[in-house]
Amino acid sequence: MVNQDYDVFIIGGGPAGSIAGAKLVQAGYKVKLVEKMQFPRFVIGESLLPRCNDLLDEAGMLQNIEQAHFQLKPGVAFQTEEALEVIDFEKNLGEKFNSSFQVKREVFDHELLLDAEEKGVSVEFESEVIAFDAEANLILVKTKLGNIEQYHVNKVIDASGYGRVLPKLLKLDKASEQSVRKAVFCRTVGDIRPLVNEQDGYIFVDIHDNNQVWIWNIPFKEGVTSTGIVCDEAYFEKFNMTEAEFFDYIIQTNPTASKRYQNATKLNDVGFINGYSASVSKMFDKNFVIVGNATEFLDPIFSSGVTLALESGSKAADLTIRELAGEVVDWQVEYEDYMMIGVNVFREFVNAWYDGRLQSILFSEDKTDKVTRSIVSVLSGYVWNQENVFVVKPKKMVDVIYQLTKLNESARF
Ligand SMILES: Cc1cc2nc3c(=O)[nH]c(=O)nc-3n(C[C@H](O)[C@H](O)[C@H](O)COP(=O)(O)OP(=O)(O)OC[C@H]3O[C@@H](n4cnc5c(N)ncnc54)[C@H](O)[C@@H]3O)c2cc1C
Repeated sequence: MVNQDYDVFIIGGGPAGSIAGAKLVQAGYKVKLVEKMQFPRFVIGESLLPRCNDLLDEAGMLQNIEQAHFQLKPGVAFQTEEALEVIDFEKNLGEKFNSSFQVKREVFDHELLLDAEEKGVSVEFESEVIAFDAEANLILVKTKLGNIEQYHVNKVIDASGYGRVLPKLLKLDKASEQSVRKAVFCRTVGDIRPLVNEQDGYIFVDIHDNNQVWIWNIPFKEGVTSTGIVCDEAYFEKFNMTEAEFFDYIIQTNPTASKRYQNATKLNDVGFINGYSASVSKMFDKNFVIVGNATEFLDPIFSSGVTLALESGSKAADLTIRELAGEVVDWQVEYEDYMMIGVNVFREFVNAWYDGRLQSILFSEDKTDKVTRSIVSVLSGYVWNQENVFVVKPKKMVDVIYQLTKLNESARF
């Protein structure tokens, strides 16, 4: 028998799925959300941007997160052995939120999903979407007990993250233009935490081996730190080491990390993820919309993943609400084109990070206050603010500011 009790079906209970579900039920629609795993479950991606706070606030989900007492994140510190550049979220372009949180995702995602459930989403754990007929709009679920159930709804929202359910089932997967990179990570305790103006909570990013590697250091409360190393897969392979050996080697040979972790102890085995950048040929069709990581994932360098997951989940819910109320929605313009504005701003920053231009800009002492604030705004996740020159013309502005930086440098010699 086909279950037709719901208006919307959501695949996956990460941040994108939870925010979409929460918004839809608050608008009066019936939502079924099916999640493959039992929660709490680990997922990588623990450092949030201030834009997340706006989106959670708008969905009525921020209060819960504030009460969960996560580590406050005032900004980002980029460092080499010689230089330190602090991005303080306070120095943005006047946007509403000027801090965010460092979160253990198993806790954060569970909080969001419980909140969505409390607001009225029907959540089913340990059940997996295994097929989708896009024409008939029929979803097949394999339940925890091994039964097959069918659902027919008005809209399917694919928020399956790294599962990429609809891109795989409907052959929408597209290779990313990013290099194939690898992240190797672990949680530690007992590291010596650098403070900024006597304040903890900044994510520290160490630039290593001529920008071929970067290290994330994400401080949680209770002295636990998430440490990760990112490089091209080809770079890792040159070392002929296991992931755990590579992790130790990079930490020991990086001047700032070796000091920071000299007395630290690992709390778990070193984990890793390869080739995580991905893209899709389209993000929507008549009966479905794809959100979060299941669409485009660029790179972890600017901690943009959860922001884009919340933004797309939220936007997809808003448009679905309008469509279910009888409005005609232009999904190309209002969803895909809109999302690509933000993705493309981050894309320019990611590309300029890996080719070194962004570091030149970040570490330059000649930046005007306006340029600094505009960069802070982007790195806070406000990548739709049309008053920001980097949002209006990301490629051109990165190029221009980089050229100016180089001119100023050569004028000094
Ligand atoms: C190395 C690395 C570091 C990162 N660091 C950061 C960071 O610091 N900050 C940040 O914001 N982002 C970071 N990210 C990105 C972040 O991990 C993702 O962007 C984020 O988790 C996306 O959320 P989501 O809701 O789209 O998907 P997810 O959080 O992945 O949730 C998807 C859910 O769908 C479920 N699912 C999958 N298949 C099915 C199925 N068939 N049926 C039902 N359910 C299913 C999964 O079990 C999962 O719970 C990082 C990514 C990488 C690779």
